[in-house]
Amino acid sequence: MKIKAVLIFLLLAPLLHVYSQYMELGRVLQELQADLQWNPEMETGVLKLNGTAEHRLIFKIGSPWVLVNYKDIVETSGVIRRNGAVLFPKSTIGAIQAYFAARVAESDQPRIATILIDAGHGGKDSGAIGVHEDKEKSLKILEKDVVLTVALNLHRMLLKSYPAKEIILTRSDDTYLKLEERTSLANNVSLRKNEAIIFVSIHANAAFNKKAKGYEVWVLPQEYRRELIDPSGMEEKEIAPILNVLLEEEYSVESTKLAQEVLDGFDEQVGDLSPNRGIREESWFVVRNAKMPSILIELGYVTHFGEAFLLSQESYLQKLSLGIYTGIRNFVQTFENTKGFTE
Ligand SMILES: [Zn+2]
Repeated sequence: MKIKAVLIFLLLAPLLHVYSQYMELGRVLQELQADLQWNPEMETGVLKLNGTAEHRLIFKIGSPWVLVNYKDIVETSGVIRRNGAVLFPKSTIGAIQAYFAARVAESDQPRIATILIDAGHGGKDSGAIGVHEDKEKSLKILEKDVVLTVALNLHRMLLKSYPAKEIILTRSDDTYLKLEERTSLANNVSLRKNEAIIFVSIHANAAFNKKAKGYEVWVLPQEYRRELIDPSGMEEKEIAPILNVLLEEEYSVESTKLAQEVLDGFDEQVGDLSPNRGIREESWFVVRNAKMPSILIELGYVTHFGEAFLLSQESYLQKLSLGIYTGIRNFVQTFENTKGFTE
């Protein structure tokens, strides 16, 4: 009896060995929760993963790889056929699962998906106007022109750096837009769960005091509460205000962080030419109604003689654009490397 048992074991051992490293197709379908389309002539199978609209795994008997979604190749030691059964190497199942796990992790990573650049004013609305004259030169400078140039520069820089992000301009020429049109453009951007958007409004300043000069960045006051989450679609309406406060605090922290980064960027670029007036708090319409981290930048005073001349120069506007760009870059980098400032 004992000898018989040993003999059976010896006969089965190679088979058991094969079965311990391979998984039979039926179990693979269970494991991956997949449906199979089998082409017997080609000995090719397509696994359609349930619960996902788009994932397809294509394998061929004897082929050393599995094709995922018609584009990515997962290397395997080859799907084989033994005694009529189709067998997947377990390492292949592991590799496929790792492939999908990596993709899930990737899509869960908080990221800034959209950057909205709002050039203030435009068309019939010139914004602030600076008129200057002395013995040698005269100058009339319009806020709408200054901010458009900077917005277009910034748009170009961000597009180049972030081909995978959406970089949107509220206006790209001298057209008039209502304030509501600007914020609804921002609020209607559709985002996935872990995607965020930032709103950057660009303006230039004016004052009766002709000596006022410098750049500053405005954020919404800490105590101001916007309605960020609409309670009408919620089951438990009483938690909406609490969620609003939490979200508002997050946006407020992020807005202030972004404002600081932009000011640092300006310091670096034009700090020797214009003073830093710091972060200011005000419930401007565009900042108040954009339901996302948002800032309003004042590039400088068109009413200040010296600063108006700076703001009329392409090279100075290029520096300001670079300052904002650097600020946004640093903000995005920190946001995306700290899981949305949670680490
Ligand atoms: Zn303005």
